[in-house]
Amino acid sequence: MKKQVRVRFAPSPTGDFHVGGARTALYNYLFARREGGQFILRIEDTDRKRYHPDALTWLLDGLRYLGLEWDEGPGKGGNAGPYVQSERLEIYRKQVNRLLESGTAYRCFCTPERLQEVIAAQKRNHSTFIGYDRHCRDLSREEVQAQVQKGTPSVIRFKMPREGETVVEDRIRGNISFSNRELQDVVLLKSDGYPTYHLANVIDDHLMGITHILRGDEWINSLPIHAQLYRAFGWEMPAMVHLPVILNPSGKGKMSKRGERAPDGSVRPVFVRQFKELGYLPEALVNFLVLVGWAPESDQEEFTLKELIHTFSLERIHTSPAVWNYDKLEQFNARWIRRLEPEELARRILPYLESAGIRTTAKEILPMISLIRERITLLSQAPQWLEFFFQAPRDIPRERFIPKKGALNEARQFLDIQRTLLTSLDFQHQVLYTSLKTKAQELKVKAGVFFHPLRVAVCGKTVAPPLFESMEILGREEVCARVDRALQWIRSKTNE
Ligand code: GLU
Repeated sequence: MKKQVRVRFAPSPTGDFHVGGARTALYNYLFARREGGQFILRIEDTDRKRYHPDALTWLLDGLRYLGLEWDEGPGKGGNAGPYVQSERLEIYRKQVNRLLESGTAYRCFCTPERLQEVIAAQKRNHSTFIGYDRHCRDLSREEVQAQVQKGTPSVIRFKMPREGETVVEDRIRGNISFSNRELQDVVLLKSDGYPTYHLANVIDDHLMGITHILRGDEWINSLPIHAQLYRAFGWEMPAMVHLPVILNPSGKGKMSKRGERAPDGSVRPVFVRQFKELGYLPEALVNFLVLVGWAPESDQEEFTLKELIHTFSLERIHTSPAVWNYDKLEQFNARWIRRLEPEELARRILPYLESAGIRTTAKEILPMISLIRERITLLSQAPQWLEFFFQAPRDIPRERFIPKKGALNEARQFLDIQRTLLTSLDFQHQVLYTSLKTKAQELKVKAGVFFHPLRVAVCGKTVAPPLFESMEILGREEVCARVDRALQWIRSKTNE
């Protein structure tokens, strides 16, 4: 019988949730869902020095925002828990003792100072091997016992084979071989009783029943260590898939872990939280992310998460580096914004208005949605398009009213004429448009020129949502008040 697929996303809580990690989580999630398996979230927090107290919150929020629900893990429980490594120390200690007993691991009493000296000497002598010199590898049982009794601090190291090769199969890259001579006797258990990444990772993947490991290709170098550890424990190694590195938009280096510099010097987002704050829809980010290192068979580009569950396949993950493309991501976002139902888009825009100090409701902004949905590429742009609906523009620079090739006086004349018309017109955008356009024709002025000061009076800006629709939403009273205020403002300058 085919084993049930179990995959895991195993981040270390050392900082903010990077989009590279999000892609790894996404691929694991999709593979699990496609295979009807389980997606496990495991927190690898054994490096206490690099621990960041907010990292877990950022991570969980990020996964939820992307819609990548995990089946087992923090907040969910499960039969293979605990899912936080710092709560599993006893498990690692027990397992590592098995290696000590079988002679595949050993206690090392070397001080950090000695280690430094050894490495410095190797470098001075241009040694081909730089690393721990396996000084304690062959200590006798009695010597070890004596040191332990004296209370000498120690770590536990792995006894690596020193000859031959370790060959590991990667499901998409084929066999990868490593010369054992270059392998180090890595530390498995540190002197503070915490396991290293290698030990905890291998033990947990086995005990949690992980069948496939999908992770970034920066872990390829750890493969021989892990393969040897599985062998030493007598366990079967899960299937391995190493995902291609993500390069920055120039394609010349890895995508930054902190923030990408744009050509103009500004810093571009790299963390899930930042994309969310800027108003990227999770649908767009997921759609974009999946294509960073994977391609479907067809040339379809737009996918929902649900569609991806049916389409995603390990075989089509690339081995060559993937390049990040901010412009493409923003285009995706624009497309996904347009795909949302107006009610849904209103609901999603609301928090961005709130953080810009605009208090409203999804119902109130619903009529405005069709005016901006084709104009915004990020939800965070919505407040600047909509703010004039909630607050009459003030202190508009007078020059802004001046129509193309015109004068301020002309702006005033136009507004005067329009003001009169507005009193009697039906406040319906087609009526407003047709009547004002007819007026422009009578005056032998181009419609755009005639509308210009009115747009500025109503919206405060020259680039704004469609004028007549906006006027209809604002209503006669408010529009007339704005035109009156603009006229007063202009008159105070032209002294008329
Ligand atoms: N904790 C490791 C990380 O932060 C996990 C690597 C793995 O998936 O084996 O990426």
